[in-house]
Amino acid sequence: MTGALKRRLRGVADQAARVSGWLALCERERALGLTVLTYHRVLPAERCRSYPFPGLALPLDAFRSQLRWLTQHARVLPLGAALQEFALQRAERPAARPLVALTFDDGYAEASACIGPELERADVRGTFFVTTGFVDAGAGELLWFDRAVLLFGALAPVRRRSVVAGICGDPRALELPEPDADARGWTRWLKRRGPLEREALLAELARAVGGEPDADGFRAMRVADVAELRARGHEIGSHTVSHPILPGLSDERLRCELVDSKRALELWLGEPVRGFCHPNGDTDARVGAAVARAGYAHACTTRAGVFGAGGDAFAIPRVDVVPERVSGSGGAFEPTAFRRELCNVYRRRGWADGRSRGESRGRA
Ligand SMILES: [Zn+2]
Repeated sequence: MTGALKRRLRGVADQAARVSGWLALCERERALGLTVLTYHRVLPAERCRSYPFPGLALPLDAFRSQLRWLTQHARVLPLGAALQEFALQRAERPAARPLVALTFDDGYAEASACIGPELERADVRGTFFVTTGFVDAGAGELLWFDRAVLLFGALAPVRRRSVVAGICGDPRALELPEPDADARGWTRWLKRRGPLEREALLAELARAVGGEPDADGFRAMRVADVAELRARGHEIGSHTVSHPILPGLSDERLRCELVDSKRALELWLGEPVRGFCHPNGDTDARVGAAVARAGYAHACTTRAGVFGAGGDAFAIPRVDVVPERVSGSGGAFEPTAFRRELCNVYRRRGWADGRSRGESRGRA
C-alpha cells in the first residue's frame, strides 16, 4: 500500500473516530495518565525530505503547530516535574488539563539552537536526553547509526550490497523487509552486533569508502549548550555515553554507560541528574536493575502508551511522534491525526497496523 493511500485511509478512519465520539472517549482516558512524547530531530522541511531516517525528522513548522496545539490543550512540563505533578494530582486532586512531557533524544545541535528557544517562546520547557560521549567528543563525532548510514550512502548503489556483504561476511546483512529500506536495514543489522564488532565493521567500511563522512547536519550540542539549556529551565537526562544497545553489554560496560554519563552530566550541570532514557528503547530486567543502581529515579522506553497510575517509573512508555503519521498531505499539521497518535487510538484495538497496544516502535 502506498504512503498516500495509507494516509487517506487513516484520514477517513480519523474522521469516523472523531465524529463517532471514539476519539474524545480515548482522550478522556488518556487525560487520566501522563503522556510523554518522543522527538528526535526537528529540522527545516527541506532537510527532512532528504533525511536518511524519515521517521525521525519532524519539520520545524509541524513542530510549531504541535506546540501551539499542546499548549492550548495540555499542561506541558519537563518529565521529572510532570511525574511529581502526576503523583500529587492523584493524591490530592483530580487532573485539570492532561499532563504532557516532551522528550528529545540523542543531543543533536538543534536541541539548544532551535528546539529550546521554540519551547521557550511557547512558555514551556522540555526534557533532553543527552548522549554524553557524542557531546563530549567534539565537532567531528557522529552517533554510530548516523555514521553507518552516511558511510552506506557514500557507496555507489550498485556496490552497496557486495561491499557491505563482504565486510560483514554475511550476505543477509542487506536482506530487508521493505524494498526501499536498505540503509535502515543495514543499521538494524548493525544493532545486533556487539559494540566492538560494530566499530570494526564501520572502520572497515570507512576504509572502503575512502574516509569518514562529513558530520555536517549530524553534529551534537557542545557541553556549554547543554548547560545553557538547563540554565533556561529545561531538564537534562542521560542517554548513555555511546548510545549502545544495553541488553547486549557486559555488566561492567553497562555500568560504565550508566554511571559515566550521569557523572559527566552532573559535572557539566553542577546538580544531580535523575532521568534516563534507554537507547533504542532496548531494556530487560538486568538493565532496569542497573539503571536503578546507578542512581536514576526514572527511565523512558520506546514502548508505546501513556504512563498511568501504578506505572513503573523505570519503564515509562512514550508516544513516538512519527512525522508521516501526524501529518496531512504535503506534511501539513493535521490536528485529528495528532490527537489520534497521542491516544494510540488504533493500536489499542490492534486493527490499524497490526501492532498491539504497548508494543515498542521507533528508535530512541
Ligand atoms: Zn537515541
